[in-house]
Amino acid sequence: MKISQGASFRASNVGVMGRGTSEAGALRSPAAASAGRRRNMQANRRRDTKPELALRSALHRSGFRYRCDYRIDLPGGRVRPDIVFTRRRVAVFVDGCFWHCCPEHGSQPSVNQTYWSPKLAGNVKRDLRNTKLLQEAGWTVLRIWEHVPIETAFELVAAAIATKPAPCEAPEADKKLERFDSTSTD
Ligand SMILES: [Zn+2]
Repeated sequence: MKISQGASFRASNVGVMGRGTSEAGALRSPAAASAGRRRNMQANRRRDTKPELALRSALHRSGFRYRCDYRIDLPGGRVRPDIVFTRRRVAVFVDGCFWHCCPEHGSQPSVNQTYWSPKLAGNVKRDLRNTKLLQEAGWTVLRIWEHVPIETAFELVAAAIATKPAPCEAPEADKKLERFDSTSTD
């Protein structure tokens, strides 16, 4: 396996969260307190974040095939992991340190506290629920913080795949049978 050097996940977007100023009270999505903070929030988009993209391309380069933006319907609700290995039932989430309250970098921002606190708490709650739903349905769930170096993230996924071989599926056997039938009529 080959992973490009230097492409490590960086949790660069938490330290700049505003400190000191207070805009408590706003329940709507608050306007960015500064241009820097606005850029910061844009960098915090949920999907297709840099760490997620880096992991996806490292996996793809090494021959792993997966689904992105794949919705899994479970009895208890719908879950949309970042990277999904459908046959092996491995679901990978690359969790942003800010959005998902990483213990190392996820300190709550003091600006717009009343807006962010419930929102972030809701994210954490949903993460727990989704992980539980998937596990109950037989999925292996990997939650990887965005600050985890890409080499480590890659190895975590590769190890999960290796320990969970793809099941022999009936459709594969059917295909072989079809092929056999068609050649036998030649
Ligand atoms: Zn972190």
